[in-house]
Amino acid sequence: MNDFTYYMPTRVFWGEGCLARQGDAISRYGTRALVVTGKTSARASGAMDDIAGALDRNGIPFAVFDEVEANPSIETARRAGAAARSFDADFILAAGGGSPLDAGKAAAVLAGNECADDDLFSGNFPNPVLPVIAIPTTAGTGSEATPYSILTDTAKKTKRNLKSDRLFPVLAFLDPRYTFSLSREATASTAIDALTHALEGYLSTRATPASDMFALRSMALLGPALTKLSASAPGREDRENYLYASFLAGCVIAQTGTTVLHAMGYHLTIFHGVEHGRANGLLLVPYLRHVMAAQLGRVREVLDTLGCGDLAGLGRMLGPLMKRDVNLADGQIDEYARIAVQSPSAVCTLPPPTAGDIRAMYRDAVGMKKIRKDE
Ligand code: NAP
Ligand code: FE
Repeated sequence: MNDFTYYMPTRVFWGEGCLARQGDAISRYGTRALVVTGKTSARASGAMDDIAGALDRNGIPFAVFDEVEANPSIETARRAGAAARSFDADFILAAGGGSPLDAGKAAAVLAGNECADDDLFSGNFPNPVLPVIAIPTTAGTGSEATPYSILTDTAKKTKRNLKSDRLFPVLAFLDPRYTFSLSREATASTAIDALTHALEGYLSTRATPASDMFALRSMALLGPALTKLSASAPGREDRENYLYASFLAGCVIAQTGTTVLHAMGYHLTIFHGVEHGRANGLLLVPYLRHVMAAQLGRVREVLDTLGCGDLAGLGRMLGPLMKRDVNLADGQIDEYARIAVQSPSAVCTLPPPTAGDIRAMYRDAVGMKKIRKDE
């Protein structure tokens, strides 16, 4: 067995009503809080009532920053950081999908560190980072268990990864009820994001025996759940499975990071408005075909664990769950491939892709003249 490390310092509370039952744990992180969230989800999901209840019970005054957009920008994170500073918050309570969780993590850095973008993304912030408490309302990113904050650099038209062990949330409250209000499309897209985390971590050059264990369990839950989602709306147990699988997959990428699949997907999100999970899903089959060239056995294990047999079976499983509304011209593919091949996550892909390989994956999945082999 190769040497490996494992680090995941977040204390996780799981279960319906966990914030009402165990929310007093927040009181050790300070006496003033900033709640960072999106426009509607924390309220629509019922999380906001539980958060206010826990803060009130513990006599903790709080302010709310509810301006986080999907795929949050660096500017939004800076405004949330300024809100934390002006309220004199001791800690951040981030509630919502991956976007508010990531904005909350970055705000925790920016509240006490006035750094330029490049210092921020190189992890070069000298002052303390506020503790973050994460309350997910989607089941996809696993951000509650990762040291990452993914922000959109609107000037450079790219997504950038702020990574620091100081960004692991101190606490996470995982209540499946908060995901009940997700639409079928959002459920599918976020679950596909979790699936790609587990799968990319499993196929990464940075995979470890410990991360593999989480990845296999996550995929074993997600395969049947996604198959079922094509035919029926998710029930209570399905919601539990999605959230648990998403958390496990977060534990995977906390150790391994992602691979070139995520780097490629970012362009579909930034330039074509495709939701993060669906962007990865659209590219998944060609990506696995590429990885098979060096890791046939591992890819077969992935497909068996998902219960879809082969790549065509995976295509059939995901097909009904994803709109296919992107068609890239060759010039766009060339441009995106040129950038994706330089991404740090491309290096963790086995076999390491050339720009030509990436162009072929894009063309196969979303090229204008693609041949739909997998449908
Ligand atoms: P999201 O961008 O947080 O949310 C997407 C949409 O779903 C928003 O409109 C949101 O509403 C809504 N929503 C959230 N929870 C809901 C609920 N319970 N009921 C109804 N609507 C709900 O989506 P996401 O896929 O969870 O997060 C994507 C972001 O996470 C991307 O920026 C991605 O790059 C990042 N990510 C981070 C990590 C990490 O480790 N940090 C890993 C993977 C991905 P509101 O407008 O109210 O928020
Ligand atoms: Fe992701």
